[in-house]
Amino acid sequence: MSFDESPALVFWETTKACALACRHCRASAMPEAAPGQLSTEEGLALVGQLGQFRSHQGGRPPVLVLTGGDVMMRPDLLQLVSAARLAGLPVALAPSVTPRLETGALEELRALGVSSVSISLDGATAGTHEGVRGVPGHFDQTLAALRALAGLGFKVQVNTAVMKANAGELAEVAAIVKSVGATAWEVFFLVKVGRGQDEQELSPEENEDVAHLLFEAAHYGFAVRTVEGPWYRRVVAQRRAFGGGDPAEAFSLGPLYRQQSRRLHELLGRPRQEPRAPTAGTRDGKGIFFISHDGWAYPAGFLPVRLGNVREESPVAIYRQHPLLQAIRRAQFSGRCGRCELRDLCGGSRSRAWAASGDPLGEDPACAYVPA
Ligand code: SF4
Repeated sequence: MSFDESPALVFWETTKACALACRHCRASAMPEAAPGQLSTEEGLALVGQLGQFRSHQGGRPPVLVLTGGDVMMRPDLLQLVSAARLAGLPVALAPSVTPRLETGALEELRALGVSSVSISLDGATAGTHEGVRGVPGHFDQTLAALRALAGLGFKVQVNTAVMKANAGELAEVAAIVKSVGATAWEVFFLVKVGRGQDEQELSPEENEDVAHLLFEAAHYGFAVRTVEGPWYRRVVAQRRAFGGGDPAEAFSLGPLYRQQSRRLHELLGRPRQEPRAPTAGTRDGKGIFFISHDGWAYPAGFLPVRLGNVREESPVAIYRQHPLLQAIRRAQFSGRCGRCELRDLCGGSRSRAWAASGDPLGEDPACAYVPA
């Protein structure tokens, strides 16, 4: 799929307001809405314009992911969702777990056609998760919210930011994903933006261990995807082609993989289902598109290169015509990613390339692969 005409996912940061202050927050969220936030009228105009994507992709529109900050702090949320549904856009929400995420509001959103909700869970224990989220009691609240959402009929996605503090709990997190009835687990690999600057990222070798673990976790009935870790798709392709034997030996994996893979099998048994892992080669700016709270368009939420502002330009035109996005979609990279035979399937994290070198078309230093 080229994704030249339409993204698969449009993330709209509806507000920066959020009651939480998580350590790795991309948005560096704040208690109140930030100056310059798109108004209700501007938001309605935006979703109307985003609806124009669908007429150019065989009727298949992008999913509009309403995020923040905390999207539940937008007082006009129901109005925006209604408009998006009228424009033909599937709508997903990425709210924070706070008292605003209550049953009455969720039932209204479900009735308006919101189909899926993603919730962050950053550890398998209260100590780890709350160490990231900064709110005592938030772990139990998050598990309760996940179960409540599944009970209300939403497709539930668990989002986990993988970092040194929780890498040793990933198998347990996978077991929680299964136990709460989630349909997807999305694992984010840290990029040094926002509050992520003071977090310790995993090494490329540890990322490789985690990617192999995630492929194995994808055999238990829920889909496993990554954010800013597109080399997971390379690992998925390698594992699908793997003839059998010990993956740790065949792929020279480290202790993190060995421990977590063993623990995954202890918790969930031997894998019995076909893997639910991605094949579409999306990346920042190719299938992914981000609109900030004040209307600036970016290739992704972790890549702060401004492409234009939807107050002045059509988001459809920005996505299709901006030279940076066209170069990203053509996989015109430099460094190791430019030489890699898998650059179209993977392409590396454009956000991390920018964070590392200032060049969004540079190489992703978090990947351990040596191109053939
Ligand atoms: S070298 Fe770049 S394109 Fe190749 S697998 Fe690694 S991140 Fe992906």
